Amino acid sequence: MIKILSILGFTSSFILFYFEAIQIEALVLINIFFIIIFFYKTENSRLSNISIISSSKKELTKDDLQKIFIDELEDIIIILNRFNIIVYNNKVAIENFGADLEGKHIGSEIRIPELLEAIDQIKIDKKQKKLEVELNIPLFKFYKVSLAVIKSDQILILIRDFTEMRKSQNMRSDFIANASHELRTPLVSLKGFLETISDSAKDDPSSQKKFINIMKEEAGKMERLLDDLMSLSRIELQEHIRPKDKVNIIELIENIILLNSNKAKEKNISIKFKINDNEKFVIGDKEKLSAVFLNLLDNAIKYSHNSSIVEIRNSDKKPIFNNYTSISVIDNGVGIAQEDIHRVTERFFRAENIKKLKISGTGLGLAIVKHIINQHRGEFKIHSNLNKGSEFEVQLPLA
Ligand code: ADP
Repeated sequence: MIKILSILGFTSSFILFYFEAIQIEALVLINIFFIIIFFYKTENSRLSNISIISSSKKELTKDDLQKIFIDELEDIIIILNRFNIIVYNNKVAIENFGADLEGKHIGSEIRIPELLEAIDQIKIDKKQKKLEVELNIPLFKFYKVSLAVIKSDQILILIRDFTEMRKSQNMRSDFIANASHELRTPLVSLKGFLETISDSAKDDPSSQKKFINIMKEEAGKMERLLDDLMSLSRIELQEHIRPKDKVNIIELIENIILLNSNKAKEKNISIKFKINDNEKFVIGDKEKLSAVFLNLLDNAIKYSHNSSIVEIRNSDKKPIFNNYTSISVIDNGVGIAQEDIHRVTERFFRAENIKKLKISGTGLGLAIVKHIINQHRGEFKIHSNLNKGSEFEVQLPLA
């Protein structure tokens, strides 16, 4: 900019001189001034260019590269001197422990007894060590730790966070244990009745008939459980694939009500249904959304008292997004204790009040519902009061 101004000043002084507006002395003085400005700036920019080039061409040293690399690692890296003082910790360590630990004693910063013991041990035998650490307070954490002696008796500690992996491993084994237990219970009872029929009740047709009916019920329980387990695993596999069909939710729920009408009649329960006509099309998968409302209505009837009302209607609360609809299944039944509300969507969880009432179920229905709604990028909310009733709110994207 200054370069352009000095050229302009330079030329205009000549024009002024030409039209005899200024004297020759003034012309010389003005031009000396603009020449100084012009070259001063040029020199300056030359210098700054050189510094840009030299800084961009400056080669990274081995130390710079190591630092960048170590900071980008996902593992926590700590180096101790022989007095157990932290002489280096990478960026991840600072993020994990909330502060730079350099200059501090490891024992006062990381209170993991197994790790401190391993540090003492490695100082004696100088052999590389690996250990697994499980912490439960304040949160569950699972780390794999490696220790090695490096230059000048310094100790390198590498901590890798395996918490998420361990959590999913635990969940998988809990799931297998629960599923096997749930399947084993009706199987044991089936086996028992079979033995009775073929042994002590061999010549007693009336007992045989009674036992055969119980066996049918137990076999039915196993079948329902296997069906639920299979649909849960199928839904989990497809959870990342968002359904795209246009579904008429009014028609769909009317069909579900029809399917449940006998069950409702048995308990003298009336089902009220009203959905806004302008919110009748949602984006989803017809079969899966049927499973959602089938499970919710089935529960509402199952956990309602005789001669009560179950409602399916647009919720009073607004959905999270503008282009969503919110549909609630409401009952005045046994309700859910506040401390259980967040647990009812866990697989196999059945609340104590239900167990006492001896109402049968697999404990998988709401887990299936939650996964299907997640797959639809919807929201699932539960509002309930013990002995008063429940509202299960399903929010879905409108078409
Ligand atoms: P299931 O009904 O087969 O036990 P679900 O997964 O459908 O399994 O439900 C899990 C638990 O949530 C139930 O066992 C019950 O404790 C509670 N629950 C579900 N729906 C209702 C409801 N409408 N009223 C009261 N409790 C309910």
